[in-house]
Amino acid sequence: GGAVRFENVHFAYDPARPVLQGVSFEIPPGKKLAVVGPSGAGKSTLSRLLFRFYDVGSGRITIDGQDIRSVSQHSLRSSLGIVPQDAVLFNDTLAYNIGYAREGATLAQIEAAAQAAQLHGFVASTPQGYETRVGERGLKLSGGEKQRVAIARTLLKDPPILIFDEATSALDSHNERAIQAQLDAVGRNKTVLVIAHRLSTVVDADEILVLEHGRVVERGRHAELLAAE
Ligand code: ADP
Ligand code: ADP
Repeated sequence: GGAVRFENVHFAYDPARPVLQGVSFEIPPGKKLAVVGPSGAGKSTLSRLLFRFYDVGSGRITIDGQDIRSVSQHSLRSSLGIVPQDAVLFNDTLAYNIGYAREGATLAQIEAAAQAAQLHGFVASTPQGYETRVGERGLKLSGGEKQRVAIARTLLKDPPILIFDEATSALDSHNERAIQAQLDAVGRNKTVLVIAHRLSTVVDADEILVLEHGRVVERGRHAELLAAE
């Protein structure tokens, strides 16, 4: 499962200012689609619509052929995972922050996800380990560590569809490479929607859309789009 389709999607936060103007694309199960384009083009709005933070104005979005408006919130949430630009953490323990999206996860499962996300350095450096409260003053995580928490969360939840929304764009180049390698590994064999501002970060996508002012102005593979530049 995990086929995502946007069919002629129109959307506006404010009726006087259209944001998406007839966007169509399909991500077959296990494939990776990237959306690039300038700031304000409507890229993150695609992810907000997929999560049903907002509903489409017209057109429709389907997952495995089903209109997401007819899917329960619980089922929709369980099929989607997101690594956003700035992972939002609760002022709670590291274990809670990794485990909250997966009901009933054991500490052993949380630890395994944290290890896979390479959070062990952080855990080892704090006396309470997984019981460390990440929001406490002085224990704030760095940008790279926050992204690793979001990745661990996603690994533990293991949804069929992943969204990486500018997931590395707030990081320095060293962390960007490290986190990018992890995202590539996490996204293998999943349906992935990558939102990026630069073409150079989405070389391996099965298809790339260029979004401008809420319209798809170009689509193709990386080499084809480079040739067209
Ligand atoms: P991108 O991710 O490509 O930078 P967004 O999808 O975040 O673009 O935003 C597209 C447009 O919608 C922008 O003009 C932005 O200002 C506007 N916008 C985003 N969120 C809201 C909102 N909650 N209310 C009103 N306008 C918004
Ligand atoms: P904005 O850029 O308008 O301030 P947010 O900071 O709320 O938007 O969110 C940034 C991105 O992360 C958005 O694409 C949003 O859909 C996504 N996002 C944030 N929190 C969640 C969440 N709890 N579940 C799903 N997606 C989220």
